[in-house]
Amino acid sequence: MEKDILRDRMAGCLYGQAVGDALGLGTEFLSKDEISKYYPQGLSRYEQFIQDKHRSKSIKGAWTDDTDMMLCILDGFEEGKFNIRKIAQNFKDWFKTDPVDIGLHTYNVLSYSDYVDNPFFVAEVQWKLNRCRSAANGGIMRTSVVGLPKDIADKEIEDICRLTHPDKRCIGSCVIASRIINALVWERRNMSVEEIKEIAQKYDDRIAEWIDQACTGDIRLLNLEDSATMGYTLRTLGAALWAYFHAADFESGLLAVVNEGGNADTNAAIACAILGAKFGYSSIPAYYINNMHNNVVYKKRVERFIDMVLYE
Ligand SMILES: [Mg+2]
Repeated sequence: MEKDILRDRMAGCLYGQAVGDALGLGTEFLSKDEISKYYPQGLSRYEQFIQDKHRSKSIKGAWTDDTDMMLCILDGFEEGKFNIRKIAQNFKDWFKTDPVDIGLHTYNVLSYSDYVDNPFFVAEVQWKLNRCRSAANGGIMRTSVVGLPKDIADKEIEDICRLTHPDKRCIGSCVIASRIINALVWERRNMSVEEIKEIAQKYDDRIAEWIDQACTGDIRLLNLEDSATMGYTLRTLGAALWAYFHAADFESGLLAVVNEGGNADTNAAIACAILGAKFGYSSIPAYYINNMHNNVVYKKRVERFIDMVLYE
């Protein structure tokens, strides 16, 4: 019985990630005005996707780079822990497939020829080239799986983020999201705002205001559609925390985040990974899973990973 609940929450997290990512592509890079124009009733189904330049490259219902990179991490789990070098190799192998939707900072980091041998150094060099300002959401977008093994250490969560994103705001975002998921799955417990703030202050003072913003009930205050800063890690963390604090169920949280636009696939990927861990796989409407592209392959990978976490 206990294992059934753990399995339901872990699968909820991993399917939440992919479903949020896949549906979020439908409003990615759109403003709220554009969403009202293209989806007058709101976006809730993969079939509704408009076929503009951005979306026509993808299959409706397919997940994007966020879940691709999460799977690179998942495939790096062996003998009860994440193998950092293997994850770096998986990132590089994925990069070589020429993914159309890769983030700019991630692209720059993975471009280095010696990336696999020196990932932390290379990521740091690239960050410094951008005057240490870049704090994109490329770390948090893939961190959900890192929260699933029972005895995960903060150091492991940090290192997996640092493989591409060394900024403390990125690392703090990953630790907060992964810890929330770990507590939901293994302790069936919601972390309090105070606990989340305690983690935040270990990393960067700028995180706290986004936690406060997410505590308010109004998702619009997060201004997720802001075109200049939609890819900021703390904006994505804000969306995830908003869903965690306020969504009454999986689907309402998914639709609320997706219909705010901006970096919607990433925002919904992590928000829904958390909601899946909170409410369980059984809370995700079957439509979103059955109509997800490559769902049979996904099921196998998810089940294999959960078996490794539960039985090894
Ligand atoms: Mg994406």
